[in-house]
Amino acid sequence: MANATKRTRDFIALEEQYGAHNYHPLDVVVHRAKGSWVYDVEGKKYLDCLAAYSAVNQGHCHPAILKAFQAQAKKVTLTSRAFRNDQLPLLSKKLHDLTGFDLSLPMNSGAEAVETAIKAARKWGYTVKGIPENQAEIICAADNFHGRTTTIISFSTEAQYRAGFGPFTPGFRIVRYGDISALTSAINRNTAAFLVEPIQGEAGIIVPPAGYLREAARLCRENNVLLIADEIQSGLGRSGKLFAYQHEGISPDMVIIGKALGGGYYPISAVLSRKEVLGVFQPGDHGSTFGGNPLAAATALAALDVLQKEKLVDRSARLGEYFIKKLRAIRSPHVKEVRGKGLWIGFVLDMKARPYCEALMKEGILCKETHENVIRFAPPLVITKQEIDWAVRRIERVVSSLD
Ligand SMILES: *Cc1c(COP(=O)(O)O)cnc(C)c1O
Repeated sequence: MANATKRTRDFIALEEQYGAHNYHPLDVVVHRAKGSWVYDVEGKKYLDCLAAYSAVNQGHCHPAILKAFQAQAKKVTLTSRAFRNDQLPLLSKKLHDLTGFDLSLPMNSGAEAVETAIKAARKWGYTVKGIPENQAEIICAADNFHGRTTTIISFSTEAQYRAGFGPFTPGFRIVRYGDISALTSAINRNTAAFLVEPIQGEAGIIVPPAGYLREAARLCRENNVLLIADEIQSGLGRSGKLFAYQHEGISPDMVIIGKALGGGYYPISAVLSRKEVLGVFQPGDHGSTFGGNPLAAATALAALDVLQKEKLVDRSARLGEYFIKKLRAIRSPHVKEVRGKGLWIGFVLDMKARPYCEALMKEGILCKETHENVIRFAPPLVITKQEIDWAVRRIERVVSSLD
């Protein structure tokens, strides 16, 4: 912040004075954005290599999504689910056509969709599987990230996410991620579901051993346990497939999506599943005032259209491979590993990544450290090869300055 101008400093001072300090953002004050680029209040431009944690896969302020968003904003934005609207049915159909799942249930944030999946799995456990009342267990993986509600942090293994927030919700068991025998021993007759990220994002883009998800899916099927894939960050093209679980050719019982579903314009999330699972919800069981509102639905429809029309999934696979190859070619004793799938890359250093992110910011690249020593490169999927080359030159420069 030392060489930030007064304009930047003033915004930061206001935020620090009047806002709760539950984040530690980089000291860039964004004013506008377009595609893969964001511009700060000084007019300086940056390549966005975080894409709002993958919520803007379609690129910032995509014109086609803007058009749908504005058109709907003029018609009707909110009806509540007490009445029907003419956008939600189209989104439900689109999600079915795109993913093959029978039903979807719309919510707003990712965490709410995770909560919804947990409620569906528990009710399925009691009413379909026959688990005795209040005995249902859900298995989760260590180092997971599924959101910040009180129930969700109850099965987090991150000390800071829990500290000071107990008492916690019971009914969850933790197993080592990527370890099939741990999962095998955790399953018992009260197990309703296994909730897992096909690739762990916040943990540092951790890709599990090949075959892990396939084996987990088989175990779940054999034991009448629902496999729930949290694809909030990994899904909608980020990993180079529509869903990251497709890398293993499996089909989970429930899939949770969010983030890029709103194209960066609007918070919308959803749970996708089969009739036997989401069918457990009866009118009055569950709900959300804003869930499935027409503005969200129209925006999500456009966001999914962009994903398809611009072939962003293929693009992520192709350019992700290119980006990883270029990053692996950077020779430095400080780079321990470059891992990931699609345009979702963990760049692992042998030192704290935060100062490195600050140095990259000065070079015009915005990214965020995750887990101390990992930098996540996850640009909008509309990024070009030239922009990747531009970024790699700067990343290389900053890495060499570490020596
Ligand atoms: C971001 C994220 C969530 C939580 O989504 P919010 O919209 O922040 O509530 C849940 N799961 C995963 C894998 C995520 O990346």
